[in-house]
Amino acid sequence: MVADLHIIHIDMDAFFAAIEQRDEPSLQGKPVIVGGRPQSRGVVSTASYEARKYGIHSGMPTREALRLCPFSVFLPVNMVKYKEVSNQLRRIFSRYTNQIEPLSVDEAFLGIDDGNTLQLGREMKHTIKEELKLTASVGISFNKFLAKLASDMEKPDGFTVITREKAKLILPELPVRRLWGIGPKTETDLHQVGLYTFSDVVKADMMLLTKVLGKRAGEIRLLAEGIDDRKIQVEQQAKSFGEETTLARDTDSKEVLLQHLADFSDMLANRLQAAKVKARTVTVKIRYDDFTDMSRSKTSQEAYESSRAILDTAVGLFAKLNTEGRRVRLVGLQVSGFLFPDQPEQMQFTFDHES
Ligand SMILES: [Mg+2]
Repeated sequence: MVADLHIIHIDMDAFFAAIEQRDEPSLQGKPVIVGGRPQSRGVVSTASYEARKYGIHSGMPTREALRLCPFSVFLPVNMVKYKEVSNQLRRIFSRYTNQIEPLSVDEAFLGIDDGNTLQLGREMKHTIKEELKLTASVGISFNKFLAKLASDMEKPDGFTVITREKAKLILPELPVRRLWGIGPKTETDLHQVGLYTFSDVVKADMMLLTKVLGKRAGEIRLLAEGIDDRKIQVEQQAKSFGEETTLARDTDSKEVLLQHLADFSDMLANRLQAAKVKARTVTVKIRYDDFTDMSRSKTSQEAYESSRAILDTAVGLFAKLNTEGRRVRLVGLQVSGFLFPDQPEQMQFTFDHES
C-alpha cells in the first residue's frame, strides 16, 4: 500500500552559489552572485543567501545586483561543474528510490512507496550534506504540489512535512503566487479581481476564475484546495543503446557492412563506458532492399564492454544472417541487457540528461 505521505521534493539551497562557496572557502559567508556577465547584460542565476539580504535575486540583471551590493563576489556560471554535482545528487537519490522526476539540475520529486518517507527524507538530506557538503531543503507531502510547497517553506536547510491536517490549516491563507504556474503577471490579474489567497480562489465564481486563468482555472482551483493527482513522471530508463545507418546506396558488399559494424562497436563501447554499464546482449539488424528486416541476437553470461568484444560477437551474428547475394539498405547494431558494476542483477538506472 502506498503511504499517505509518499512524495518528497528536494531542492538544493542556492545551488550554484553554494557549490562555489564550498569549493572556495574564502567565499564562505560572503555575498556571491553566479550569473551572466554584467558587461554582456547577463542576469543572476543564483545569489548566495548573504547576497539575498541586499535584495538580490535570480533573474535580476547582474549589473543591478552589483549596484545593490558592490562588494559582492561575481562568478560566471560554470555549468559543467554544477552538472557534475547534479549527477552526484541523482546518484544519491537512486540509492533510495527508482521513482525520480528531476525538475531541474538541483530539484527533483521522489516517490516513496514503502511508508518510510519521513525517515528516508531525513537520511537523504543527511547524505547530501555528508557527501556533497551542500544543504538541501526537503518537502514531504501526499501530493506533488504540496511537497514542492513544503520544500520552499523553511529554506535554507529546511525539512517540512505537510500532512492533510496541516494542509487544511495553512493553505487557505497562502498568497495566490504560491500556486503552481502563477507568475507575476497572473498574480496581478488575480489581485485585480480581488483574489489574494488560496481560499479566495477556492471560493471564487468559476466564471470569474476562468476569465482570468482560462483553461487552467479548474486545475488551479484544485491546487488551491490542496488537490493534485499528478503522478511522479519517472525518466525514461534506457534499456539499450543502438546505432544504425541507412546506406547511401544499397550494397551487397560484406566489407562495407562489416566496416559499419566496426564503427558502431566503437560508438557503443563509448556509450557503455560513459554510462558505466556493461551489456549482455548484442543484436545485429539488417534491412534488405525489399524492406524485409532480419536480426540476430546473442546473450552472453559475461557482459560486453569493449569494442572488440562487441564487434567479435557482431561479426558472428552477421555471418548467420546470410546476406549472400542480397542487397542491404540498412545495417544496425544494438547492445542491451545492461549490467552494473556493483549490482550485477536487475539494478535500475536513470540516465542523466545532458543539456
Ligand atoms: Mg534550488
